[in-house]
Amino acid sequence: MVNEKMYELGSKKSTIRAIFEYGRKRAAEVGEDHIYDFSLGNPNVPAPEYIKEAVLDIMTTLPPQAIHSYTVAPGNPQVRDTLSQDINRRFGTHFTRDNLFMTAGAAASCTICFKALAEEGDEFVVNAPFFPEYRCFVESTGARLVVVPADTKEFQIDLDAFEKALTPHTKGVIINSPNNPSGTVYSEDTIRRLAAILDKKEKEYGHPIFLISDEPYREIVYGGLTVPYVPLYYRNTLVCYSYSKSFSLPGERIGYIVIPSEITEFGKVSAAIAGAARVLTHVNAPSLWQLVVARCAGKPSDIKPYEENGRLLYEGLQEAGISCVKPQGAFYLFPKCLEDDDYAFCERAKKYDLLLVPGTDFGCPGYFRASYCISNDTIRRSLPMFKKLAAEYKK
Ligand code: PLP
Repeated sequence: MVNEKMYELGSKKSTIRAIFEYGRKRAAEVGEDHIYDFSLGNPNVPAPEYIKEAVLDIMTTLPPQAIHSYTVAPGNPQVRDTLSQDINRRFGTHFTRDNLFMTAGAAASCTICFKALAEEGDEFVVNAPFFPEYRCFVESTGARLVVVPADTKEFQIDLDAFEKALTPHTKGVIINSPNNPSGTVYSEDTIRRLAAILDKKEKEYGHPIFLISDEPYREIVYGGLTVPYVPLYYRNTLVCYSYSKSFSLPGERIGYIVIPSEITEFGKVSAAIAGAARVLTHVNAPSLWQLVVARCAGKPSDIKPYEENGRLLYEGLQEAGISCVKPQGAFYLFPKCLEDDDYAFCERAKKYDLLLVPGTDFGCPGYFRASYCISNDTIRRSLPMFKKLAAEYKK
């Protein structure tokens, strides 16, 4: 009667959602202050004041028709001009409005790219740990998601395993840096070597391999680290960007895809992106928010609270004897569980009202994700609980 796959996706909650909802129920029983909810990636830093000012200014100075009308399918041309100039200023690129397609956030950007590229029998390769939604985005196109096991030492990419995962069926590769869930930033060396492998394989297979760079956390990096701008390293790159995290606007649904002119058959890929957006009804991204992000392009994001939270949690976990890679960006830590079974570990953590997400969901068993976009005070109060949890494993 209904599409079984869609039924399954709609009726089964994601593990993250299920843990979050468990937390809400538990908070009603024991009180909000006794719950340490590290489940969701909802930014807790408020949207900057300049966003509110831009909204008010737009609403009071522009005629309603200029704010609320349909835009052309790829988005308001002046907005795309402004955003492409901002990207050029930051990364030394030469994009124009024709290289930008406005979308309803990074999830929309990714689904549009997969839909635009995938043909029967295609494969998309992703390196673990990875954002779990990629699986349903890719599989809904009929393509297959191929997972490369994680390099658990530093959560860069295991490039030997990556190369082995590429086949003549590989249509695309997905990378995400700063990474959800590991919190690492892929180094310039990693990106260079990844690009060299892809260049080699494109020649060997005689067809393009598209690198889809999903970067909603681009601005959330610590210690002055730079995130390499992937199109400068690999020609066939599509960038999926979003303002959900940098401007704390996840509910507004606004972002874009960058389609560089240099990619193989630019005209064809651009048209396929427009076609995919059409069938997914992602044409005309929210028009007020297109105007807002154009007014605020290049303005700084407040990342200090995330940096402080990351440091506090990282040091607290180290002290409790729970090891993890130092946070470099985004707002996640991906520590090693104190037993092999990550589900059992996260279940045991619930005893202390620590709500953690098992690594298996991110393609990396034996680890857990802790989202630290929560209050600093909650993290501080959670640390004795982590110590109690760890003490159970010392007995
Ligand atoms: N990609 C990654 C890696 C994410 O972590 C998220 C959200 O958490 C998304 C995409 C979706 O972001 P958006 O709100 O822009 O659709």
